[in-house]
Amino acid sequence: MIVLSELKTLLATPQQIVITTHHKPDGDAMGSSLGLYAFLIQKGHHVSVITPTDYPDFLHWMPNNSNVIVYTEAQEQAIQLVNEAKLIFCCDFNTLSRINELGEHIRNASGLKLMIDHHLDPEDFDDYRHWNINACAAAQLVYDFIVNELKEPELINKDVATCLYTGIMTDSGSFRFPSATSTVYRIGADLIDLGAEHWRIHQLVYDNASENRLRFLGHCLSNKLEILREFNTAIITATAEELQTYNIATGDTEGIVNYALSINGIKLAAFIIERPDRVKLSLRSTGDFPANEICKKYFNGGGHRNAAGGVSDKSLID
Ligand code: 5GP
Ligand code: MN
Repeated sequence: MIVLSELKTLLATPQQIVITTHHKPDGDAMGSSLGLYAFLIQKGHHVSVITPTDYPDFLHWMPNNSNVIVYTEAQEQAIQLVNEAKLIFCCDFNTLSRINELGEHIRNASGLKLMIDHHLDPEDFDDYRHWNINACAAAQLVYDFIVNELKEPELINKDVATCLYTGIMTDSGSFRFPSATSTVYRIGADLIDLGAEHWRIHQLVYDNASENRLRFLGHCLSNKLEILREFNTAIITATAEELQTYNIATGDTEGIVNYALSINGIKLAAFIIERPDRVKLSLRSTGDFPANEICKKYFNGGGHRNAAGGVSDKSLID
């Protein structure tokens, strides 16, 4: 482990830095990573953002998106960057299994590993940790890291503010989950003052769906929604064939689970999807019901109390 003063000393001179985030990155994964990127490049560092896989089109508008390296598309380049990096920031995840094959390269790399995360049960692979499960988003922790740890709020420019706002907005359900405290609203207001165009960001993320997604959503709600009243549970399943029929791309299925949770009396919603290699589950819950414990116990997964995920080797059909 290193302490903050050592990290500050390292960041005072230009370094080779890698920022990485979890498999199938979401708005917070990309927002925290690209926000940190836009901050660090102002300090003269050589920075690369590497994602383990591709991510939805509705996140491709973010500043510096064109510099992102997708591991599955540029493996050799990504491995070289990881091996040469002095510092490796791990944003929005805390176990190396969340970044697939890239995880072992990072475990074996000589660079210092710095975790910026808000999930439960961190794995012990890091050298520095800015971790808080009460944060609504990893992007909130990047903000906190810049403002309260490094004390460089003047480096939150429009690009940094835009990315961090995106992460906070997406992970807090547009500032509506219990995690969206008054502090989070104040941070949001600060980011707006610093250049984040909240209305435009919301539009780019949420009003930017493909026609396929909307038609697929209609199919899921009309034909695939099962309600188990006695368990206060709603389930939507989607087979590989259905995904193909609607030509569903990465990101098109995001948020569908929330429609199931919006039914009165429903406390647990599941969206279960047949991926080529395994069945993937997305769970959402309300109140104290721990979706993450179900994922941890039965589906080799985890997450937050009200938003969690996991996988199953069982068939979707049986
Ligand atoms: P989603 O349902 O949007 O894929 O994931 C919701 C949350 O659940 C994510 O932010 C992440 O914290 C967690 N999560 C999703 N899939 C997995 C998984 O396979 N393993 C673990 N540990 N967490 C997951
Ligand atoms: Mn997050």
